[in-house]
Parts: sequence; structure tokens; C-alpha cells
Amino acid sequence: MANCVLCGGEMVDWLACPIDAKTFEPTPYGNAKRCEICDLGRIDPLPAPEELDGFYKLDAYYTHGETHFAAGAEQNFFDRVRDNIAWRFDKGDELDPASIIAKTGKPANELSVLDIGCGHGSLLKKFKALGAAAAGLEPDPEAGAALTAAGIDWYQGVGEAAPESLTDRTFDIVAMTHSLEHCIDPVKALQTAHSLLTSGGIFICETPNCACLHFERTNIFSEMYDAPRHLHFFTPKSLSAMIKHAGFDVTGEYYLGFVRHFQNGWRATENRIREKIIENSGPTSSLAPEYSRSGAMKLLLKTASVSPAKKYDCVGFYATRS
Ligand SMILES: [Zn+2]
Repeated sequence: MANCVLCGGEMVDWLACPIDAKTFEPTPYGNAKRCEICDLGRIDPLPAPEELDGFYKLDAYYTHGETHFAAGAEQNFFDRVRDNIAWRFDKGDELDPASIIAKTGKPANELSVLDIGCGHGSLLKKFKALGAAAAGLEPDPEAGAALTAAGIDWYQGVGEAAPESLTDRTFDIVAMTHSLEHCIDPVKALQTAHSLLTSGGIFICETPNCACLHFERTNIFSEMYDAPRHLHFFTPKSLSAMIKHAGFDVTGEYYLGFVRHFQNGWRATENRIREKIIENSGPTSSLAPEYSRSGAMKLLLKTASVSPAKKYDCVGFYATRS
């Protein structure tokens, strides 16, 4: 029996995907279990740390500045109406560096910011443009070269294994946006984040939200499943619990990601993964139906007025350390 790293509860079988969501090749790391008590999900079995690099060697992956998205059907009148309705109901909050700086009560040029799993540094560049000193922890050397070229301090590593040159420092703001779900040991990665934050500093942590109805609808072919790059799966409940478990005090939450669930390109990308699953293992009764235009309209009507935790595909928390 596998036990949850967060609460010790029993992990039960949850989702099973026979292929890598981006290469479409068979993978032994496409199955996930979920904790019945705290909601935390994880790939089972977990790969070994030295296997992770191979999962990112893709021609069209985010870190390399390209896209894996399918083009999708040309937008017709029906699509425009649907997307406009979705847009009107979208009250999500994008992460805003200027408002985070304002929360510290200090001028930007006195602040240091660290992004753990920063990729090419899109978030850090925004903080830097506002005057803060920016540093990134990132394993990919190609991304590291881009960070250095942008005047951002690059530390090579991951949250679970940060270099000593970094762990000697502390930062006023530490961010982990869309990196915790890639960690093999998210508890340890959050403990690193905690140790790198100054007392009274701000921690921001954002991940995909597996409690949202869109994920429930599409699950293994959801854009947010993405096994085996995503190794852990969070809901607002499990993410906030894990952040508290690392010693942080949670001070706020935010949600984002709605309109895209219904758009043609997003659906085409998800349906392509679904087709590849069928090509690999044949149609199974557990596979959700194709995510069609009318299916998107149905989901939109169902989600427009539900709670943020059920509505948005990403969830984030603000936290601090005393
Ligand atoms: Zn648990």
C-alpha cells in the first residue's frame, strides 16, 4: 500500500494514461494514484530523478519557447459567441508582479526575487523590469543561458536539490509557479522555498487545479495532466495543506484559467491526445468522450456560476513565514 507524503493517508488508483501526453509514446509513468484524505495525486510509480531530464527533451515544449498546441478549427460564429460568454464570466486573477511588490511595502529596487523552476524567466523579467533583483533556480542549461543573457542570476538545480551557492542566500519574494507539480518530492521543494524566504517575505505558489470541472471532464487528456512531466496533482485543498506543512502561513489565494477550456485550439490539442490514447490501446469505457463544440458549450453553462475551485484550471496561494 502506498501512503500519501502529505498526510499519510492511503493512495488509491485514480487515473491511467498509457502514453506520454506530448510524445504520444507509451510510458510506464502515466498512471496516477490519489490520497483519499487530502486529495494529493501523484504518478505511480514515480520515475527516478535521473529519468526526468529525458521527459523534457521535446522539440515543442514550453521551455524552448515553442508550442505543442494543435491549430484547432477556424473560429465560426458559434465559437465566437461561446468564447465571448466565457470571457464575460472569467473573473480569474493573473499573477501581477507590481501588486506583489506593493504587498511587501518596500521599493522594488530594495527587493530580491527568486523563482524556483523559472524556465526562461518570463516572470522574473517582469520583476526585473520593475527594479527588483532577480534570480532563478532552473535545471535546463539552455534556459539558464537565456537567464544569464537577461541579467538574471541563474542557479542550476531543482527545488529538491538547490546548490549551496543559492542556499546561502535569502529572498524577499520566492515564487514557484507551475513547477511544484513537476517535482519528484514536492514536500522537500517547498521546504527549500521556505528556507530561502526572508522572515516576513512573500511566497507565491501556483499549480494546475485538478478540482476544476474541466479537468474532471477531460482528465487524462486534459492539458493539465501532462504525465510524466507532471508528477504530482493538486487541488486547492491539497496545495494549501502542503504549503502549510512546509511551515508557511497562507495569507491568500487566487484562481485563473477559464476561457481557454472551451476554445478550438485547446480542445483540438486535448482531443489529439485522446486519439493517440485510442491508437495506442483501443477505445476503453473509462475514456471520456471526445471534447466537442457542444460539449464545450455544456461545460461552459455548467461552470459559469460554480465556485472558483471548480471553475478555474489553476490555483495559487500567497504565503509568508514568521
Ligand atoms: Zn494525503
